[in-house]
Amino acid sequence: MSDNFLSLANTGVQKLHPYQAGKPTDELERELGITNIVKLASNENPLGLSETVKAALQKELTELTRYPDANGFYLKQALANKYSVNINQVTLGNGSNDLLEIIARVFVDSSSEVMFAEHAFVVYPIVTQAIGAKAIVVKAKDYGHDLEAMAAAITDNTKLIFIANPNNPTGTFLEQDEIKQFLAKVPSHVIVVLDEAYFEYAATDRRGNAIAWISEFSNLIVSRTFSKAYGLAGLRVGYSISHPDIADLLNRVRQPFNCNALALKAAETILKDEQYLADSVALNNAGMADLCAFFTEHKLEYIPSMGNFITVNVSSSCDKKTGDEVYQALLHEGVIVRPITGYGLPQHLRVSIGTESENQRFKQALTSVLNLQ
Ligand SMILES: *Cc1c(COP(=O)(O)O)cnc(C)c1O
Repeated sequence: MSDNFLSLANTGVQKLHPYQAGKPTDELERELGITNIVKLASNENPLGLSETVKAALQKELTELTRYPDANGFYLKQALANKYSVNINQVTLGNGSNDLLEIIARVFVDSSSEVMFAEHAFVVYPIVTQAIGAKAIVVKAKDYGHDLEAMAAAITDNTKLIFIANPNNPTGTFLEQDEIKQFLAKVPSHVIVVLDEAYFEYAATDRRGNAIAWISEFSNLIVSRTFSKAYGLAGLRVGYSISHPDIADLLNRVRQPFNCNALALKAAETILKDEQYLADSVALNNAGMADLCAFFTEHKLEYIPSMGNFITVNVSSSCDKKTGDEVYQALLHEGVIVRPITGYGLPQHLRVSIGTESENQRFKQALTSVLNLQ
């Protein structure tokens, strides 16, 4: 890029590295001329779009010349009912990433500190850097958040703390009492975002109900998404639940039509489709067990995961290849996974749990690439 334009950008943006998305299937098709590609790179739902959503979207098509409901009333009402909160506590986003950015723009300026953990979701450093705020990256413990160290690192300038539970890309999980103890230590003027993008996949007896804590900890924002277990990643819709005054602030910054009409309709529909959610979770549990057994059998170390993906140390095989090398070799086998060197994990790869046959393809490809027996 011309240095001139670079110098025109704000100082945060000048040093920003763009988000690296999972490689699209058709890009690999174009590059290598291979077909029958399996993409396990973006934690997407392998079940495909729910039939109930397909029917609802078909109906909605005739309405698309109109703007969507800027307030997303019906979706917010459905979420408020589901989680027993007031409708004025719900904020909708163009994916939950939109909300993470809105939250940062509301509470953070260039004199603030934003805290998150090492190996945590990359959108946190991106939104922090874009504002030109200072990132406080707290060293991970066993690949996950070290909440004690995070509490100790809070300063007078700390405005916002991001916690992903389960975390992406490590899949690590914080127990409810750990998070509650942490919240009790955080001063009430520091906003804590609990990013629960994988909530629906986490074990029902351990995932608790952080939304219920908002009455006690009014500085807590819980964000969730329709992109993962609900299978709507391409439509972009997520939400946050917070104190109504926080929701009011988020709504000042939110673009009025940030959730499009199809996204609103699809999200309303899938919330009622309990079978789809149950099927998603069951497929994930089976695939997770299958891949863990495979890694154990081949003595590949993996990080136990509560999400719809698992992160495995591919250098722990006798082949000692790096994550990036194995990623490239897997591409040639028609399998796209996610290298996570950028997350400080150069020996690991993150693989999304697929259908039974997709997982099979991944296992075969990895067996061949790593010369496993
Ligand atoms: C996938 C993911 C999200 C959700 O992103 P959307 O914008 O809702 O698609 C949020 N946080 C984490 C940690 C994720 O992995």
